[in-house]
Amino acid sequence: MNQVEKVNLLDFDRQGLRDFFAQLGEKPYRAEQVMKWIYHHLEDNFENMTDVGKALRAKLEAACYIGPPKTMFDKGAADGTHKWLLGMDGGNAVEAVYIPEPTRGTLCVSSQVGCGLNCQFCSTATQGFNRNLATSEIIGQMWVAAKYLGNVTHQNRRITNVVMMGMGEPLLNFDNVVKAMSLMRDDLGFGLASKRVTLSTAGLVPMIDKLSESIDVSLAVSLHAANDELRTELVPLNKRYPLAELTAACQRWIARKPRTSITFEYTLMKGVNDQPEHARQLIKFMRRLPTCKVNLIPFNPFPGTRFERSEADVIRAFQTQLLNANILTMLRRTRGDDIDAACGQLKGQVLDRTRRQAEFQKRLAEDAAHAA
Ligand code: SAH
Repeated sequence: MNQVEKVNLLDFDRQGLRDFFAQLGEKPYRAEQVMKWIYHHLEDNFENMTDVGKALRAKLEAACYIGPPKTMFDKGAADGTHKWLLGMDGGNAVEAVYIPEPTRGTLCVSSQVGCGLNCQFCSTATQGFNRNLATSEIIGQMWVAAKYLGNVTHQNRRITNVVMMGMGEPLLNFDNVVKAMSLMRDDLGFGLASKRVTLSTAGLVPMIDKLSESIDVSLAVSLHAANDELRTELVPLNKRYPLAELTAACQRWIARKPRTSITFEYTLMKGVNDQPEHARQLIKFMRRLPTCKVNLIPFNPFPGTRFERSEADVIRAFQTQLLNANILTMLRRTRGDDIDAACGQLKGQVLDRTRRQAEFQKRLAEDAAHAA
């Protein structure tokens, strides 16, 4: 049997793994033993699973494998941020980024090859879309990073937090993302608390409800504007799910999980959404979600973008205006931008199926011709 016909164990959550072992005629606790080897010891070779009997090891060898994505390239930034380009299939690759801070280490994970949402200020959008990632390709990003970093589960973890804020819209790859996040949360997986696993969405309203019923994780919503006209321009998905519907979905989320909060991400772009009137609109929006908070992200530029980062004093004034209205407002520091690893700079390699890459390249060429 070749590798192609074998099953990748990284595609299973705990229940899936138990079912698979049952199919092999094995006891469920054997599945859990192997799960510990995979996620606590980051072992991908059955040979080394010393408390698994020789016969079972041979059986596993024949039926399955542990297949994390291949590291095609990886690079560290001056500030300790680390980025991996991980090969998926054919010419596709996605990026994962590790961001160390004094009290935590955050891994930013991708959910799709490219993205179909076409948010105007995001570099991933210029790449177009190819496909959803498999569960193994999502949890595999964490497996690769954890192994590289020498992560030890349950003690002195290097990866203390995961954010589904890499390439793609995670709620458009719902089942695989939920399975991967359940492995991040599971004690026999990476064992992270619900507060430490965050899914970020551009605002797919029905899926926000479904998520709250499926798994206990934290929610972030990419807002970027608190008036419909501007938000539709920046995040075209807003046309389908305008602010009133998004607000209602967020209120339902809070009602179901009363002790939690939602983080609203707001990327600040010069002259676009960074003026006092925009802050006032945001304050009004946040009044309907009083337990929630705002995370301001200075815009990170990428080649060909028509947007610019807001000036430092404008960013400060915007934050102060929100704080004065008693809205918990954090400013995200820009990390890893010297290796294009900052928010909105992830590109990977996408075999585009949407023609968006071609359109973007054409516009770049036209801009260059104009400039010449
Ligand atoms: N599709 C999901 C997951 C991607 S998260 C979502 O939209 O939430 C990536 C985060 O970075 C989002 O908040 C996104 O709006 C933000 N972002 C995108 N492009 C950016 C840029 N150029 N500069 C700063 N932040 C950006």
